[in-house]
Amino acid sequence: MRRREWLKATGTLAGGTVLPATLAGGESRAGLVVETLHLELRHTWTTTMSSSETRDTVLVRYRRDGVEGLGEGAPIVRYGEDAARARAALEDLADLVEEADPWLLEKVLGKAFARLEHQYAARAALDIALHDWRGRKLGMPLHRLLGLDPADAPLTTFSIGIDSPEMTRQKVREAAEFPVLKIKVGLDSDEDTIAAVREVTDKPLRVDVNEGWKDRETAVRKIEWLAARGVELVEQPMPAAMLEETGWVRERVDVPLFADEACGRAHDIPRLSGVYDGVNIKLDKSGGIREGLRMIHTARACDLGVMLGCMISSSVSTTAAAHLSPLVDYADLDGHLLIANDPWSGVEVREGRLTLPDRPGLGLISRDRPR
Ligand code: MG
Repeated sequence: MRRREWLKATGTLAGGTVLPATLAGGESRAGLVVETLHLELRHTWTTTMSSSETRDTVLVRYRRDGVEGLGEGAPIVRYGEDAARARAALEDLADLVEEADPWLLEKVLGKAFARLEHQYAARAALDIALHDWRGRKLGMPLHRLLGLDPADAPLTTFSIGIDSPEMTRQKVREAAEFPVLKIKVGLDSDEDTIAAVREVTDKPLRVDVNEGWKDRETAVRKIEWLAARGVELVEQPMPAAMLEETGWVRERVDVPLFADEACGRAHDIPRLSGVYDGVNIKLDKSGGIREGLRMIHTARACDLGVMLGCMISSSVSTTAAAHLSPLVDYADLDGHLLIANDPWSGVEVREGRLTLPDRPGLGLISRDRPR
């Protein structure tokens, strides 16, 4: 059943039950509840870095004046993060957040982030929850609060993890509705993977190497081979630290190169100019919407293209990112589509088009528990 049909069947679409503007009791005291979300993947997810069937993210519920804001962050193993530590770090902040004025966002997040050093998933969860709360309190969708037109949202790719040729063909068939695919590569099997994709479809492809190519000659050879097979963008071809080598590669290929692992926060961006053509910004890396916006504007000031990406997460995180997507060139916001037990519905994806919720805040609807 398609998402819209499912929502109609359960009566939760447009006019149905949404997260309430006012919680039972309408309490005025603030509260911070932190949970771990255990997400089950539809397919085993393999990249150059790891292979997994489940993912844990951290979820924040910020409650004040009878309104609840939701936020989520996906801890990134590469940066030494995990859900248990993110959760503990957020629980330690409960007093600070509960006593703070949520309208003084800069001050609240400034103080909180000073105690969340190297905890970007935790930062993202708190930041997104406060943004959701503000939008819900004002009765205004987040994109509108940010001054953005949802009609400007770009198409999103759908990601295909590394797999056998047979499974790759199956996954590509399952992704038939998406006009552009993002294919994970970076292992010895790259040519087999792309050949398997091309047996099924001739649609445009982007590839994500996840730092997999370790020498510059290999990178040039692989990119030229991929370009001849309709690959229009290459993400993080070499290790993040190999800036000079990546710049050498860029001078020899025509396909745009985008940084992901090399680009965490805004201060990483200026030195990437001239080495990459663009950056992949993720709220889980940046620490939320506030830093994500700063990164978008920093990248623009450095004449870099902007992709908005995500980690594997529920609709909380991808919907938050989708509200920023009218500002960017490319979207890769499929993290919630890769899991089988998303507790919420938010941004809708149909044939690659992102439809942003027009409900207050993030505009999330609970799937299993009408609220
Ligand atoms: Mg990537």
